[in-house]
Amino acid sequence: MQKIVIIGGGAGGLELATSLGHKLGRSKKAEIILVDRNHSHLWKPLLHEVATGSMDDGVDALSYLAHARNHGFTFQIGSLTNINREGKTIQLAAIRDVNGDVLVPERDIAYDQLVMALGSTSNDFGTPGVKENCIFLDNPQQAHRFHNEMLNLFLKFSTSGEQKDKVNIAIVGGGATGVELSAELHNAVKELHSYGYKGLDNQALNVTLVEAGERILPALPERISAAAHQELIKIGVRVLTKTMVTSAEKGGLHTKDGEFIQADLMVWAAGIKAPDFMKDIAGLETNRINQLVVEPTLQTTRDENIYAIGDCASCPLPNGGFVPPRAQSAHQMASRCFANIMAQRKGQSLKPYVYSDHGSLVSLSRFSTVGSLMGNLMRGSMMVEGRIARFVYISLYRMHQVALHGYIKTGLMMLVGRINRVIRPHLKLH
Ligand SMILES: Cc1cc2nc3c(=O)[nH]c(=O)nc-3n(C[C@H](O)[C@H](O)[C@H](O)COP(=O)(O)OP(=O)(O)OC[C@H]3O[C@@H](n4cnc5c(N)ncnc54)[C@H](O)[C@@H]3O)c2cc1C
Repeated sequence: MQKIVIIGGGAGGLELATSLGHKLGRSKKAEIILVDRNHSHLWKPLLHEVATGSMDDGVDALSYLAHARNHGFTFQIGSLTNINREGKTIQLAAIRDVNGDVLVPERDIAYDQLVMALGSTSNDFGTPGVKENCIFLDNPQQAHRFHNEMLNLFLKFSTSGEQKDKVNIAIVGGGATGVELSAELHNAVKELHSYGYKGLDNQALNVTLVEAGERILPALPERISAAAHQELIKIGVRVLTKTMVTSAEKGGLHTKDGEFIQADLMVWAAGIKAPDFMKDIAGLETNRINQLVVEPTLQTTRDENIYAIGDCASCPLPNGGFVPPRAQSAHQMASRCFANIMAQRKGQSLKPYVYSDHGSLVSLSRFSTVGSLMGNLMRGSMMVEGRIARFVYISLYRMHQVALHGYIKTGLMMLVGRINRVIRPHLKLH
């Protein structure tokens, strides 16, 4: 039986494994194997909510094993380290326990078709001190680390005597992650205050958002970035644009202009790259940020049996430029990759992936949601704000859930979410 192996069960990879499982796995026409280094899946755009405690991933994460059993594919936990294209195998690192003892030795898995969907990590561009002193929001473990350190700082603040220093948090990168996290932090403070953290209010929190470019949200139209900028200032975030961070150290960030931004907690969310081990992996073509270069069919340029989708793929756009690293791209690429794998099996010609920009939305926590939607009825984008924008923002996640679970189960999950909002605290407090 043919083996299709997918590496990475994220926004793109898990949707692909699910649809291939339905179409081929259940009827035993092919064996579909999903590999991920974690046991469970959490949609990455929700990580800033896990970091501030607005979301409890213990409740919302999806078990790969359970999902695989119900959708016709198998799941193997492991971290990809290499690909052997001649032997058509992938290599997974040994799995060790907390003491470093080997639980599962290094192993190989054979494939006929391989799909690389292992996402991206933050890019610190080699800035000194960043790796050691800043938190990256790349995975749930890092979001938990931020959450714990944030709660510790707030606890220290609310139990200290009269001489209180503000809680200083700096976020580098004015993209969606940085902007959403800044707003979410102010929401967390409000909630924690209501749970008895004494004196903890917006005055006690000093969030600085640092962006090297001319404006925050550079990928969005100027009027939207201006609206988000104003909204952040209104809720008390200090927004610095045209400010380049040159190094980080314990206690703060140095900028090119000579300013020292004091910070007890620092997050680096400025730019992405594919993991370093991907550089020239197995002789495949990669770009300067380690992404696999793909044809418009999503096949890698040097191997028609290896596809790449999502953030780890560098896919050209017909009019120049590249498909942006977004959840909506990963979602659309998963559908095109599914159709092309099916076509390749039948010896039919493969179709190119066409990126369709449905617009971008940025959630400023409970305060607002702003963004642009690409209109079907008119050319160009339409600015949206407030309730409509919030509704569309949430519906991006619903689309991912529908691709994984179908409409009925997604509806039930929405209901459970509503019930949880009534019976559980609004913030994860531990
Ligand atoms: C805080 C935050 C907010 C965001 N907000 C938005 C937003 O509002 N809208 C939007 O469109 N995009 C947003 N993004 C970007 C979006 O999350 C990504 O573009 C999208 O998740 C990419 O999907 P993917 O399938 O390529 O990778 P991912 O969803 O990152 O999945 C990659 C998977 O691969 C696994 N993996 C990684 N390395 C290995 C390995 N070596 N071996 C095995 N498994 C491995 C990981 O565990 C993970 O499950 C946000 C990102 C962040 C961090």
